[in-house]
Amino acid sequence: MSETKVPYKIYLEESEMPKSWYNLRADMKNKPAPLVNPGTGKPLTAEELTPIFCEELVAQELDETTPFIEIPEEIRSFYKMYRPSPLVRAYCLEEKLQTPAKIYYKFEGNNTSGSHKLNSAIAQAYYAKKQGLKGVTTETGAGQWGTALSMACAYLGLDCKVFMVKVSYEQKPFRREVMRTYGASVVPSPSETTDVGKKILAEHPGTTGSLGCAISEAVEAAVKNPGYRYVLGSVLNQVLLHQSVIGLETKTALDKYGIKPDVIIGCAGGGSNLGGLIAPFMGEKLRGEADYRIIAVEPASCPSFTRGTFAYDFCDTGMICPLAKMYTLGSSFIPSANHAGGLRFHGMSTILSQLYHDGYMEAVSVEQTSVFEAAEQFARVEGILPAPESSHAIRVAIDEALKCKETGEEKTIVFGLTGTGYFDLVAYEQYNNGEMTDVIPTDEDIAASVAKLPKVE
Ligand SMILES: *Cc1c(COP(=O)(O)O)cnc(C)c1O
Repeated sequence: MSETKVPYKIYLEESEMPKSWYNLRADMKNKPAPLVNPGTGKPLTAEELTPIFCEELVAQELDETTPFIEIPEEIRSFYKMYRPSPLVRAYCLEEKLQTPAKIYYKFEGNNTSGSHKLNSAIAQAYYAKKQGLKGVTTETGAGQWGTALSMACAYLGLDCKVFMVKVSYEQKPFRREVMRTYGASVVPSPSETTDVGKKILAEHPGTTGSLGCAISEAVEAAVKNPGYRYVLGSVLNQVLLHQSVIGLETKTALDKYGIKPDVIIGCAGGGSNLGGLIAPFMGEKLRGEADYRIIAVEPASCPSFTRGTFAYDFCDTGMICPLAKMYTLGSSFIPSANHAGGLRFHGMSTILSQLYHDGYMEAVSVEQTSVFEAAEQFARVEGILPAPESSHAIRVAIDEALKCKETGEEKTIVFGLTGTGYFDLVAYEQYNNGEMTDVIPTDEDIAASVAKLPKVE
């Protein structure tokens, strides 16, 4: 099909929206390593997981053989309020860069929470409701997950307790108010409301917190309150499963115009948007049906893939969560106050970790000043004000497009634009004032936290 026929935005009909999520693990020969009980050193069973997580989500977490899992009708109806999300051809950016590359982005910021996280929030809240629970507890970094979960809980009439990483709580008071407007209670983490929070505060007075700390607190709050379970916005297999809706829609949209991407790029915090975006493409790659270059982009301040170790580690700073085999900087690693709050996690999805380990994808790290430079360039030509997290993918998409300019290659680049940056204006202000700096951990910093990895195997 001739290229001029590709519209600025490729939308799908309601009837073309996915009816099932795609479980990438079904096509992986080397399955991701199982979650392990830190007490026994043995893989966690469903019985051990159900006091923490909702039953149906535990089943999804442990299912590594079913390729397609039906999306319940109620969740599909909710998706229809804000999906399908547009796949945009970045004609204006291509023009500005004078690149022969064809750039597409899947825009997930078209809902009030402003990110892809709502795709999993509604699924997790739905299963909690179905189980007859009173409410859920969670952590939030930059606030996008907490906001998404608040929206989903409000819709279903569930109580929602959010532990928000302190640096974001302070930098983003408006995020907090959106969550409260949707009925959630929001506590800055580490807090004095949990034992683990008190312990972390005693050991690191004045800490600005981390996702790892907030996870510990939220898990403790779930286990101690009857009728509550803990839900997590990234990292877990179930979250990547729900986020596959991003990739499935992207693939359907590209297929409509006979477009085959060469490079697929996404930012990686815990790996959920990237895992979701690449799912059907990686499936083809694993089955030997097609090949794609897949690039994970992470902040230089929290470089789990590029400078981490592939090993079992705690998912949380308080060391009360299960152990996951992943690329990690060590659960005691507390990243500098980088503005991409959603990318400040020390570990990475076990699925993506295994795929990276097996050479199916690449990873690069980028510094935040160059990320904001890309964000501004993008905003000025494409109109959308991108989230700092998303802008990591923009940075590398632009870099790849500029390489094409040098070589004359007409590559097709697809990247995930995970959300909008309206709540990140303190960061934009710093950048605009020329006050933003790049804080990169030293090898000694990383070695110190990696030395504390738990001994497993
Ligand atoms: C949370 C978040 C991310 C990173 O999380 P992943 O699980 O790695 O996808 C990226 N972008 C935005 C806008 C986010 O809110």
